[in-house]
Amino acid sequence: MRGCFEDYHTTTGWSVTMGDKGSVATDGVETVVLNVIVHGKTRKIKLEKVLHVPIMGFNLMSVGMMEEQGDEVQFKGGKTIIKMNEKIAACGTRKSGPYHLYMAPLSDVAAVPSLLRCHERLGHVNVAGVKRMMKNKDINGPKCSSMAVMDVCEPCVYGKAAMTPMPSAGGGRVTKRLQLVHSDLGGPMSEPSRGGALYFGPFTDAFSRWADVVFLQKKSVLLCEYKKWLTKAQLHTGTKIKILHSDNGGEYVSNAFKAPHDENGTTQPTTVPDTPQQNGVAERLNRVLVEMARTMMRHKDVDQDLWADATKTAVYI
Ligand SMILES: [Zn+2]
Repeated sequence: MRGCFEDYHTTTGWSVTMGDKGSVATDGVETVVLNVIVHGKTRKIKLEKVLHVPIMGFNLMSVGMMEEQGDEVQFKGGKTIIKMNEKIAACGTRKSGPYHLYMAPLSDVAAVPSLLRCHERLGHVNVAGVKRMMKNKDINGPKCSSMAVMDVCEPCVYGKAAMTPMPSAGGGRVTKRLQLVHSDLGGPMSEPSRGGALYFGPFTDAFSRWADVVFLQKKSVLLCEYKKWLTKAQLHTGTKIKILHSDNGGEYVSNAFKAPHDENGTTQPTTVPDTPQQNGVAERLNRVLVEMARTMMRHKDVDQDLWADATKTAVYI
């Protein structure tokens, strides 16, 4: 399986001679890390220069190659032991001819992703954050195989390089859901999303830090999207929004936007123009969402018009 390879380099013109003297083409070569079971414990062994032969439905290890690399392979009484650096690295047993290594079940392997994989799955959140979540057991399921310092993550370098640090968000005491909601329109983006949106509007509840995002083709539809979000938020929390904190953008301070607030009794403080620090929570969220979306898109090299989907994913994470 190609997915077993750590890195992958394609090969052209390489082939492997099979037992029936026929030869089959290889697609690539690289390092493979196997999760084997030795004395009841899962261990990793690294095999180098492993060839990928797509038409083969099973994996083969060459005893000759292993011995060439200085490893020791023993066979006795239907059992095999592989020693690397004079330590037992893997064991196996004979089944209808060939020897089979004791391998960890795939579910165990999948549940032990590397620190890098955890970092990627969490939308490229900073490594200290991943480690903290694991330590606090905030992450359900995945356990990290290594707490070692991670190599430089190239998509992160690209996705987060242009940003300068934001001051941390302060704020008064908030004791209830929807007591204070922050919002700040982001955009216009350089390219419309596949749904035609150019702007995104996150809404963040200051108490629970629950965040939601709406996508807009133009700023003027913010009111309509906000009303839909408001109905959903109030229905699900069973409470009414008290304060909507936004920047001074025209879309937030228009009379039309204020009307539903007057009816609702909601107050709507805004920040002083051009001082985004005053709307810190929303500004920080906008920045985090943009960074995460851009980094994930860079990582998977997807089209730019998927930015709204990437932003939605970032909000979900
Ligand atoms: Zn990253």
